[in-house]
Amino acid sequence: MIRFATLVLAAAIAAAGAFPARAAVDVFACEPEWAALATDIGGDRVEAFAATTVMQDPHHIRARPSLIARIRRADLLFCSGAGLEIGWLPVLLQRGAPAGVQPGRPGHLMAAEHVALLDKPAVLDRAQGDLHPEGNPHLHLDPRNLVTLAGVVAERLALLDPEGKAYYAARAEAFRATWNRAIAEWQTRARVFRDMPVIVQHKAWSYLVAWLELKEVAALEPKPGLPPTASHLESLLRLTRAQNVAAIFRAPYDSPQASEWLSSRAKIPALTLPYTVGADTRDGQGARTLHEVFERTVTLLETAAKRKAQP
Ligand SMILES: [Zn+2]
Repeated sequence: MIRFATLVLAAAIAAAGAFPARAAVDVFACEPEWAALATDIGGDRVEAFAATTVMQDPHHIRARPSLIARIRRADLLFCSGAGLEIGWLPVLLQRGAPAGVQPGRPGHLMAAEHVALLDKPAVLDRAQGDLHPEGNPHLHLDPRNLVTLAGVVAERLALLDPEGKAYYAARAEAFRATWNRAIAEWQTRARVFRDMPVIVQHKAWSYLVAWLELKEVAALEPKPGLPPTASHLESLLRLTRAQNVAAIFRAPYDSPQASEWLSSRAKIPALTLPYTVGADTRDGQGARTLHEVFERTVTLLETAAKRKAQP
């Protein structure tokens, strides 16, 4: 019996691709969304590792020795860029990363360099702890950016692994077709909550807000990265009444105190939106795929809109 179980396990490991030879391209993704996209396009020719989980704020990660060790074998580094990883990625690049993933090389892929950034300040200024001085780096939350990046990552993978070129191109094409259909459906469903006023905890939702034409009236953080103060929260409470705010958005990794305070006083829901792929250890839920990130988000917004429509 034990021997049978061992054989089954060995077969399962082999089927999962962990047993045979190394994948053609080793991907070190800074965030789960990029590991998921690299896998969607690279299939079994890539092995993708995510340096962070949905329960970690990607702005604030420690460049731990295990990450330094892991980046040593990377062929492709795939991150958001625009300063999102400025507190930790430079250390990894200096201490462990091979030449092929250094800036300027095909193995260095920063998503922000391939899409139009929102919230670009007129003057670059990191003063007062602003975490978005180069523009907003949370760009994966507009799925149209994922379609663009699917093509970009297919090209990069083909440069690193020329034998897989047709394979990557076919998967990127299939991704584009599936996602363009899904995006059109989500946009149709989003008509019921167009212009819905919302408050965000951190300005992590700008791309989602712009894509779905929501109305972001304020953020709990007075500036990206600065914790909300009591006086700021009091002013937001007045604003929720004046603007008829429907919901507060937070990420699974956000501390819930400030949004719960406002939620209970203003009697509006604080919604934990999926933000990225991965299990939310607080509520036991989470999105298993990139598609589920948007599917669950749109469903949660539909519920918020219905609730608001009730007298
Ligand atoms: Zn941010």
